[in-house]
Amino acid sequence: MIGAAGFAHLLFCSTLIYLEKNKKQNDVKTERDRAEVAETYIKELQEYVKEQDKTILSLKESKEKFRHAAFHDALTNLPNRNLFLETLKFILEKHKQTPNYNFAVLFLNLNRFKTINDSLGHSTGDRLILNVAKRLIESVKEGDLVARFNGDEFGIILNDVVGVEETIVFTDFIRQKIASPFLITGREVFSSVSVGIAMGSRDYNEAEEILRDADIAMYHAKDTLKGVEIFNRSMHTRALTLLQIETDLRHALERSELCAYFQPILDIGSMQLVGFESLIRWNHPTRGLVPPGEFIPVSEDTNLIIPITLWMLQHSCEQLFKWQNKSPLNQKLFLSVNLSGKHFAHRGLVNQVHRILIDTKIDPSTLKLEITESAVMENAETAIKMLKELKELGVQLSIDDFGTGYSSLSYLHRFPIDTLKVDRSFVSTMEEGSENGEIVRTVISLAKTLGMNVVAEGIETVHQLHQLKILNCEYGQGYLFSRPVPTDDAEMMIDDKNRWQKVLPSSVNGKQKISPQTIQLELTQ
Ligand code: C2E
Ligand code: CA
Ligand code: CA
Repeated sequence: MIGAAGFAHLLFCSTLIYLEKNKKQNDVKTERDRAEVAETYIKELQEYVKEQDKTILSLKESKEKFRHAAFHDALTNLPNRNLFLETLKFILEKHKQTPNYNFAVLFLNLNRFKTINDSLGHSTGDRLILNVAKRLIESVKEGDLVARFNGDEFGIILNDVVGVEETIVFTDFIRQKIASPFLITGREVFSSVSVGIAMGSRDYNEAEEILRDADIAMYHAKDTLKGVEIFNRSMHTRALTLLQIETDLRHALERSELCAYFQPILDIGSMQLVGFESLIRWNHPTRGLVPPGEFIPVSEDTNLIIPITLWMLQHSCEQLFKWQNKSPLNQKLFLSVNLSGKHFAHRGLVNQVHRILIDTKIDPSTLKLEITESAVMENAETAIKMLKELKELGVQLSIDDFGTGYSSLSYLHRFPIDTLKVDRSFVSTMEEGSENGEIVRTVISLAKTLGMNVVAEGIETVHQLHQLKILNCEYGQGYLFSRPVPTDDAEMMIDDKNRWQKVLPSSVNGKQKISPQTIQLELTQ
């Protein structure tokens, strides 16, 4: 018999055994579970590591991409300005440390790229850039670097060149290469390139300075139409002068240093004054009267041309209003104002002219806007639109320097033009039977056919005047009558419109040549 205590002990022991057994069983189960969990965990971990690797890889890739993008041009995949400068830094250092090692930097700019882009479309423009890039890469040797900067600008580092001659030979080679036509979507596209060269020198401290000098030389190459220029110190001085002009010009506008001079335009038939061309002058505080040729091109490069032209328009129209209202005889007097090609391409121009017409209250038909033939032909289709809009304001339009720009003959009938101004170069060498005489004759008859009138510019001799009269040229302008004069002198001319009749007899002798000075003397008496 088992007593209560024995039973309790037995129960206790069996419970222990059960628990022990159960624990063992549980332990087996937990281990398996654990193993399973661990396995899953390892799998997950592996997945995670895989993911991480992927992320790291793609991060690395995008970092590479960013690095690549930071140093390469997206269109051509060529190195960009950053990489160009980085490489140049390295090369400059090498140049300083290695005797007899030299290099050259070329700054290239495609000529007339904007015209190609505007007329043939941006995708053709892009293809042209790609093709140019290809030809440049094909032209350089290993170790050289070709980069694309902006738009139509490229740079080349010629590594290890012997000297200037070798660089020029190479430059001529690439200029020829670019000059041969490109076949783009079945069409032949012609291009050419202007190149500025800066030779490596120990005087340079920064890569940027070399590139800047090559850039300055490129501008000279464009200006002089030579196509290639090697940088020299005087170019730098000139660039600084231009910078100074730009700074001064900003002040000139604020300090009212600009003024207008007026050059009379005569009716050649009656020898009467009919109007003036308004020509800008700059009353510089230290340099005196600066002619437009010295600051208009700078103002065009800096967009200062827009406020300058607006000032000229406003000022000229105000002056014209005063003159016209001085006497009923002056009501038809007109003023010609020059528009720069840069301003002509500006969207706001039509509104600006409109506002000035309203503001100054002049009869729009007595304002004539002169725009050069080359500016109109830069983008003929847009020009037609713009000219039409200007014409709707009621102003007169004149093509300046006619005969010197791209040939606009095929477009001429589509331009709403009132006047052609025959360029002075044709008038100045006009001899009986000479080629230029023929050109003037042709321009006059062409203008007549198209219902336009003609102003001959730069008349300096009685002989030229006589020739123009025979050719039935309506209007003339030139030193023979007067140089551009300040407002007061112009006013005296208005008060005495027929003064030229007294000086120049109607039966001027064709063979007679009188120097402009002689006439000037007589006129100022
Ligand atoms: P342009 O429009 O062809 O103006 C005629 C230029 O020829 C004037 O030079 C005038 O003084 C000069 N000229 C006139 N008759 C004779 C002559 O018989 N013989 C010679 N040798 N020259 C003569 P200027 O005033 O120095 O102006 C030069 C150019 O500057 C102008 O050529 C025009 O393109 C530009 N310009 C002048 N004023 C302005 C302006 O307000 N705005 C813009 N955008 N350009 C202007
Ligand atoms: Ca003009
Ligand atoms: Ca002209």
